[in-house]
Amino acid sequence: MIKILIFSLLATSSIAAVSAISNDSVTVYSSRKEHLIKPLFDAFTKDTGIKVNYLTGKGGALIERLKLEGKNTKADMFMTVDAGNLWYTGSQGLFQAVQTQVLKNNIPNHLRDPEGLWTGLSVRARTLVYNTERVSPRDLSTYADLALPQWEGRLCLRTSKKIYTKSLVASLIYHHGEGKAGNIISGWVNNLAATPNAKDSHVMNAILSGQCDVGLVNTYYYGRLVEKKPNLPLKLFWANQDTTGVHVNISGAGVTKYAKNPKAAIRLLEWLSSAKAQAIYGALNKEYPANQSVAPDSVVSAWGSFKQDEMNLSQAGILQATAVKLMQKKGYR
Ligand code: FE
Repeated sequence: MIKILIFSLLATSSIAAVSAISNDSVTVYSSRKEHLIKPLFDAFTKDTGIKVNYLTGKGGALIERLKLEGKNTKADMFMTVDAGNLWYTGSQGLFQAVQTQVLKNNIPNHLRDPEGLWTGLSVRARTLVYNTERVSPRDLSTYADLALPQWEGRLCLRTSKKIYTKSLVASLIYHHGEGKAGNIISGWVNNLAATPNAKDSHVMNAILSGQCDVGLVNTYYYGRLVEKKPNLPLKLFWANQDTTGVHVNISGAGVTKYAKNPKAAIRLLEWLSSAKAQAIYGALNKEYPANQSVAPDSVVSAWGSFKQDEMNLSQAGILQATAVKLMQKKGYR
């Protein structure tokens, strides 16, 4: 079903809108919510004089819209979350390749598409979260170890249908091969305390209520929760620090295949990767900057630093179908 979308034009009159085509404006379709992008777009306009028109909506609906609009699309850029979604958008021929020195300097390789179809702009870690009253961090180590019998009836996970789960499982397949990844998933399913949860926030609530002791969560959901309730017996644990590193994912963007103003879109993409924009972008959603020269904001850095998995995130897309099949086969719902 196509959702009703609100087209927010910054231009104040239709005359202004008509005269503002060409290099003076860029149009972005975004599955990131308005409060996360507007401060950035305002700052970009202030810096460059280029106006940003944007349309926000659900990622899947915006991808369908881009397909339907084809060459007639107004979108110069598409922003969304999760490398799996960005990869899918690229695989549908909706992005064009952009490889610039600025992007290469600002954003590490593993957070960018090898062909330049999309670029990571913020990083979220998907790691272990545990009840500090029931679990010692000494008992925690890797994603794989959550399959051990000691966690039987103590594990909560998000549903396999969520793209975040698919991307994480893709990384297990990438590092361990399909056979061992399958064993890990079987172990997880055996250890579940309850049917997989619809949301990361539900996983944390289940851990707090005593239904389970440990789970997996994207760091910004943890950030949102502890911001409201700082004294909860809930902590993050950085997974795989002696091995492959914490599974990270991105929010990111690409220049659309049929951009009317690709120059301004590239300028916006480069600007978003800059130190100035990255400091704003990460902090707005308690994420980590993708640009490694920028320090995370104080709330996020208080959780400690960690080694991140440097698997190129295009693998989250390439291995997505295999991940889905494997989870089905192992009964991960
Ligand atoms: Fe999310």
